[in-house]
Amino acid sequence: MRILFLGAPGAGKGTQCKKLAKKFELTHLSSGDMLREAVKNGTKAGLAAKEFMDKGQLVPDSVLIDLFREKLSQPECAKGFILDGFPRNIAQAKSLDQLLSEIKANLDTVIDLYTPDSILEERICGRRICPNKACNEVFHVKYSPPKVEGICDACGTALVQRSDDKAELVKQRLSVYHELTSPLIDFYQAKNLLHKVDGDGEQEDIFAAILKVLNVKSIH
Ligand code: AMP
Repeated sequence: MRILFLGAPGAGKGTQCKKLAKKFELTHLSSGDMLREAVKNGTKAGLAAKEFMDKGQLVPDSVLIDLFREKLSQPECAKGFILDGFPRNIAQAKSLDQLLSEIKANLDTVIDLYTPDSILEERICGRRICPNKACNEVFHVKYSPPKVEGICDACGTALVQRSDDKAELVKQRLSVYHELTSPLIDFYQAKNLLHKVDGDGEQEDIFAAILKVLNVKSIH
């Protein structure tokens, strides 16, 4: 199964992708996680990405394309993968088509997890993440708080707020989404791959709606 998720920052893509990856043993490729890791490790990609991420802007396409070219050709992706956060504009989507043809693969489904902006800001600003790479669990101070304040339920690491999840940058990231990323909805609709799932609700209900989409796909 090769699935692509679209959705604004805070729509819940990361949470749903993780659940799906676990259920179907798929490789979850989150562009944001890959870039944050690159920044942390001071790699060439990380050095190129940092200034854009700090401003809530898109990192240059070439950085993402190189990262995904390398990832998609690895054996762990052969069983299937979930793309989360890439592509983020039409040029990247066209490059993804090219990358997929290089590995002789197609996308099976594109899911647009849509959520009104009014609830995205609160979701993003309250988000806390586990910085432990092997865990990367996500919490929310109000909607899914950890059992012990500030501590990851899964591995006990102190939770942090992503620097770009602060209120000053959230509006900028949402406007980048509307201007550059949302045109991908029509791009994938035209390829007959798009399914819309309402991202405003309980995590389990949203997951059930996603599974329904995937089942429908497997029947037809
Ligand atoms: P995310 O964790 O998906 O919200 O991404 C965090 C930041 O990483 C974004 O605000 C961008 O600066 C950068 N980023 C993630 N994915 C991409 C992409 N496909 N193209 C360009 N920049 C990206």
